[in-house]
Amino acid sequence: MPLADALGRPLSSLRVSVTDRCNIRCRYCMPEDDYVWLPRGSILTFEEIDRLVGIFSGLGLKKVRLTGGEPLLRQELDHLISLLGRRPGIEDVALTTNGVLLARSAKRLRAAGLRRVTISLDTLRPDRFTAFTRSARHADVLAGIHAALHLGFTSVKLNSVVIRGFNDDEIVDLLEFGRSQGAEVRFIEYMDVGGATRWSPDAVVSRREILATFERRYGEIRPLAEAPRSSAPAERFALPDGTTFGIIASTTEPFCRTCDRGRLTADGMWLLCLYAESGVDLREMLRSGATDQAIAAHITGVWRGRTDRGAEVRLKAPERGALYQIGSLRADPHREMHTRGG
Ligand code: SF4
Repeated sequence: MPLADALGRPLSSLRVSVTDRCNIRCRYCMPEDDYVWLPRGSILTFEEIDRLVGIFSGLGLKKVRLTGGEPLLRQELDHLISLLGRRPGIEDVALTTNGVLLARSAKRLRAAGLRRVTISLDTLRPDRFTAFTRSARHADVLAGIHAALHLGFTSVKLNSVVIRGFNDDEIVDLLEFGRSQGAEVRFIEYMDVGGATRWSPDAVVSRREILATFERRYGEIRPLAEAPRSSAPAERFALPDGTTFGIIASTTEPFCRTCDRGRLTADGMWLLCLYAESGVDLREMLRSGATDQAIAAHITGVWRGRTDRGAEVRLKAPERGALYQIGSLRADPHREMHTRGG
């Protein structure tokens, strides 16, 4: 029997954060001036990550997504990609990046076997990008997208977090940009999790509003059928001309019932949900000499008891503001979005 949690959900995908550092400061993720970082000695080596992925794959894991922080800040990430690509049972290794360093590393990543990449692109306007990220590297992001599209990746997706008053007037432009480049855009509702200390319900542009904007502009929008029991977070749609796009409605229409995702922080904390208050310290097991069998048995027991439905629980909260304030994030940096892999 495949491993399933208490709600019948398999353990088939893992987001692996390879660093908690980032080279930009997006307002929805890292809006503060300074952060408490994970100690360097606690960060898993590639060999440790590979070993854990091997153990997870023996329990049904099929998909790995490398994240951060910004994963391309980790030196020689292509080495990790080639290690994971050799793991039997792992069908897909993907990468989510802010794109700033992608142009210079895309070729090596592709050669190491990476086939799918998702790049954050919240605005097409350099001045907005600078105001939003405190970085003037918008052109580097566009160069990264261009490089990925010309290196034969089988999938290049663009992620846009939509925030009222910041970029909600750009969603048609972003869709048009994706269409012109041949990259599918996924519009993400602004979430209240982790470092989103300035989140408020008013700033969320809902799936419904996004669809209404596109319907006014393009006419009827067709939902695309997903495979039964698909666990993909994005719902996909098509414009009348066949252009496709996705919406990730984590805030207003969460999809916890099909969630097969675990998260591994850069220092080896395994989280069962994006909203989980705490996690399971797998680094401690690895470094204290536990066998693969012992670690697998521990993971199995924990996953069998999993009942997490963080976004659905938040949806029912009577008064909703940012989940954490900065003091609580400083006290436990594992609660930060940039630590738990977004
Ligand atoms: S909130 Fe938690 S359970 Fe729900 S989809 Fe996100 S990670 Fe999965």
